[in-house]
Amino acid sequence: MKLIIGHLYPELFNLYGDRGNVQCLEKRLRWRGMEAEVISLPVGERIDFSNLDIVCWGGSSDRESELASRYLTGIRRDFKAYVEDGGSVLAVCAAYQLLGDYYETPGGKTMGLGLLEIYTRWAPGRLVGNIVLKSKLVPMPVVGFENHGGRTYIGSYSPFGTVNSGHGNTEKGDYEGLLYKNVIGTYLHGPLLPKNPQICDLILKRALERRYGTDIILQPLPDEAEHKANHQIVDRFRC
Ligand code: GLN
Repeated sequence: MKLIIGHLYPELFNLYGDRGNVQCLEKRLRWRGMEAEVISLPVGERIDFSNLDIVCWGGSSDRESELASRYLTGIRRDFKAYVEDGGSVLAVCAAYQLLGDYYETPGGKTMGLGLLEIYTRWAPGRLVGNIVLKSKLVPMPVVGFENHGGRTYIGSYSPFGTVNSGHGNTEKGDYEGLLYKNVIGTYLHGPLLPKNPQICDLILKRALERRYGTDIILQPLPDEAEHKANHQIVDRFRC
């Protein structure tokens, strides 16, 4: 079995090490004897979403988001069809913001893809620090690091998780991220997936089942180091 992972705009959305999510997906496939192909999807190039199984899109500063937003119209129709067909997307921070209608800062509005009816508004005081969620997707706590000025309003969508410690979508500290079909939008850097192997495996399982049309049981991996990294963040908030 093989999956193709599209790494969207890596030259601009590379500020917080979120490329580690691409590496984690790739490794956890290969460690199970499956094939993984990573395709870099640079700004301005045509994208064949029908060829992709997972789209990974990372964080960036406001400037790079604004630069990239000029190209989003060109990919919107095919990206939306991919999402509506159950294509897997992991969109982190700025990428999560650009899945929505806009990201508004004192400098103006950066228009997003409009794939989801959400919006983001900048506010004074960055939301920064380690964060721990409880997500309905997996039994383990979901841990990461957030660093964003934008506050994202998700309307009636399901959140990625409820916030146990940290901020999340806004300073209210109640919900974080968003779930829609096989899209996960989140503010969690880290990178997210190596510290949350259950989320990584869920993304792989969903993509494999969509590509091969059958129930997939992923063999467990020796995740002692991953679980230790996860518990280390959770324990920080206990003491
Ligand atoms: N520039 C955006 C913000 O500050 C996103 C930052 C990020 O990707 N961490 O909200």
